[in-house]
Amino acid sequence: MLARVGKRVVSSDARGETVTVEACSTVRAAPCPACHRWSHRIHGSYVRRLEERPMLDQRVVLAVEVRRFKCANAGCPRRTFAENIHALAGRHQRRTRSQARALHALGHALGGEAAARLANALGLRTSADTVLRELRRAPERKRKPRPRVVGIDDWAIARGHQYGTIIVDLERREPIEVFAGREGTAVAAWMRAHPSIEIVARDRAGAYSEAVDIALPAATQVSDRWHLLCNLRDNVERLLCRLGSQLRQAAQQVEVRGVTLDRQRERSRNSLWSWQRLSDQRRASRVGAVRAGYGATRPGRHDERNRARALNRPSNRAQLHHRGGVPRARTQGAGSDAFRSLSQRYRGTNRAGLSLS
Ligand SMILES: [Zn+2]
Repeated sequence: MLARVGKRVVSSDARGETVTVEACSTVRAAPCPACHRWSHRIHGSYVRRLEERPMLDQRVVLAVEVRRFKCANAGCPRRTFAENIHALAGRHQRRTRSQARALHALGHALGGEAAARLANALGLRTSADTVLRELRRAPERKRKPRPRVVGIDDWAIARGHQYGTIIVDLERREPIEVFAGREGTAVAAWMRAHPSIEIVARDRAGAYSEAVDIALPAATQVSDRWHLLCNLRDNVERLLCRLGSQLRQAAQQVEVRGVTLDRQRERSRNSLWSWQRLSDQRRASRVGAVRAGYGATRPGRHDERNRARALNRPSNRAQLHHRGGVPRARTQGAGSDAFRSLSQRYRGTNRAGLSLS
């Protein structure tokens, strides 16, 4: 990389935990950034110190000589200019591009504070502010895709107090907009600015639905898969609880492969009891969670909605869009096998992670 930007390593010096690599410039001519005319007239030079990724548990600092040239064009507003080392480091940056990329990747995955902690553990000395600055500095994509299928949902900034809205491009599986609050006016304004949207997956609350109706009346609205599966599971569970005794009676009369279940009564009874026990436990934990969390939820909303909030669903739903519609906790947690297999089947059904309502 140093050779590509016209630098030659002349020495390296290890002091304490820092290795300093000195590189001189071999650039004899450079184009003026204003008039693009090449100049051979060297005006002077200075040294840029750039932090590079650590090596063998030692911090690496590049001390790179940068030459300044005089512009030979009398009509050019620039009198002097520095040679271009953008391939090695961005303008005014005190780290190489490779280290900036590492910080950017960490920040993108973990956010400011956590990324800074991990970066320091890996030997990249930085702060949360620097990580966030690197994230903002990253060049935006040249071609902004026009979203066609989007999912919209709320997420908890501080559960029970402050909520935001996230909009995800479901075809590309990436968030494209986040804003504070979940008012319909902001959503409608955003939707109006994106007329390419054809399908909107949303929860069953009224605010987002109305906003889409107002801004994009031609768009198709669908319920997102998470809510459909969640409702299905709750209803099946409720039905099985209500019909428990009748199911037990029916099971005793059914023949499977010529063997009546009467002979396997003990086994089936055990499995029914264990299922009943599991169901009771889940119901008790759910009721407990609702009672504990009810005070923190917002008043005046539909009961089902509040129940969902008390069950920490917003955080699950945040994973929904990245995982094709099935939240991690539901597929890998202690959920029933029936639900798991059902949700795995649904996961493969369509790419956009949607089920038409
Ligand atoms: Zn010039």
